Amino acid sequence: MKLIVANWKMNKTPKETKEYLETFLRLIEGVDDNVEILICPPFTSLCIAWDILKGSKVKLGAQNCHYEQKGAFTGEISLDMLKELGVSYVIVGHSERRWIFGETDELINKKVIACLEKGIRPILCVGEKMEEREAGMTLKVIESQLKLALSGLDEVSERIDIAYEPVWAIGSGNPATPEDAQLVHSFIKELLGKVRVLYGGSVNPQNAGEFLSMPDVDGLLVGGASLDPSSFAQIVKVSQR
Ligand code: PEP
Repeated sequence: MKLIVANWKMNKTPKETKEYLETFLRLIEGVDDNVEILICPPFTSLCIAWDILKGSKVKLGAQNCHYEQKGAFTGEISLDMLKELGVSYVIVGHSERRWIFGETDELINKKVIACLEKGIRPILCVGEKMEEREAGMTLKVIESQLKLALSGLDEVSERIDIAYEPVWAIGSGNPATPEDAQLVHSFIKELLGKVRVLYGGSVNPQNAGEFLSMPDVDGLLVGGASLDPSSFAQIVKVSQR
């Protein structure tokens, strides 16, 4: 089944979350259940989001987690805390976490393992920077990020989703071409076997269909265009065609 994810990043207060979700649920009424829809609001909106989404066809995800269960980790959020709020997915290793907050492959690996142990599905993000792309290193970078993030884990492909998000395409209005995405997605499947691979990076209602028409694009991770309920609802509808 295709997976369409909204990553709100650091946007929307609980009040704004409520308004968005009420509108969004109305807009997707009648949409078939053949696509998984996931919304990842900030931590502070998870509670109100779950109150509204519980029992609907929309699932709830978090944008980050800590790998320890509890303890002296000021400012961090554990998977048990997220689980109790209805979270079933966590985005792990988003490029903003890697490059703004200094997350290493080793830390990302710990988070992936913790998610799997807790029965929360990680969406592991990988992607090359522009200079790596220009140096012809895209596939090398992807392979290395996957190997390190999944180190010590066997047969994870059915319990995890991968998001291919070229760093230069995120929030830039300059998406990869669907053909370039296809190439990387099929490479990821060569490495990992039958895994769901989402594309992310400047997806909008106009280009979503082209990405989804590629044989190995199994879903989308949407940032900017998910902040408006009607634009995200349009992307969900395109994914059903
Ligand atoms: C993202 O946040 O993962 C993302 C892909 O953002 P945008 O759609 O804005 O490029």
